[in-house]
Amino acid sequence: AYGKRVVINVLTLVCELIWHIFKIIIDIFDFYFFKGYWDQPDYINAVAAICTYLEPLILLKQLQAIENQQGRVRYSQRWVARTLDLDLLIYGNEQINIPELIVPHIGIAERAFVLYPLQELAPELNIPGKGAIAELIQNCPISGLERLAAWFCKQIPLSSYP
Ligand code: ATP
Ligand code: CA
Ligand code: CA
Repeated sequence: AYGKRVVINVLTLVCELIWHIFKIIIDIFDFYFFKGYWDQPDYINAVAAICTYLEPLILLKQLQAIENQQGRVRYSQRWVARTLDLDLLIYGNEQINIPELIVPHIGIAERAFVLYPLQELAPELNIPGKGAIAELIQNCPISGLERLAAWFCKQIPLSSYP
């Protein structure tokens, strides 16, 4: 199992990266330790809420730039192990469906490792085109997930956004 120090290191890294670009993180919630699925090694998941003026596609490019900075190598195959994977889950109430960007994220309604931390972050959330998170979660067993930690980080008031 991961020790506390590993969790803190991963969390700190992600916070710093996102902070560096967006200067705001409302909450990072819950690190979930997910035991192998699709023959992947175990990995850690978290959900963050951010405020940004970046348009969705620009935001996606920024997230990919962070992944690259962290040494991510892109293979044609999906769901292989990687150093860092940053997905754009929801963007306000928008629904986007273009080849490079599908929002809400295509797997959001079926993935326990997304739904459970997301519910802690935003229990009242209604996912555009998918429904209330409380209902989606009822069809999505928590099996295989292990809660590592809940965390609140930099709570910066909107008015101080540059
Ligand atoms: P999954 O999307 O099922 O979680 P993945 O994260 O492993 O799989 P990647 O290889 O990281 O998939 O991304 C493949 C492509 O998905 C990216 O090049 C990106 O253009 C596209 N994509 C579409 N919608 C999104 C989204 N909401 N967030 C991030 N990438 C997206
Ligand atoms: Ca992903
Ligand atoms: Ca991705």
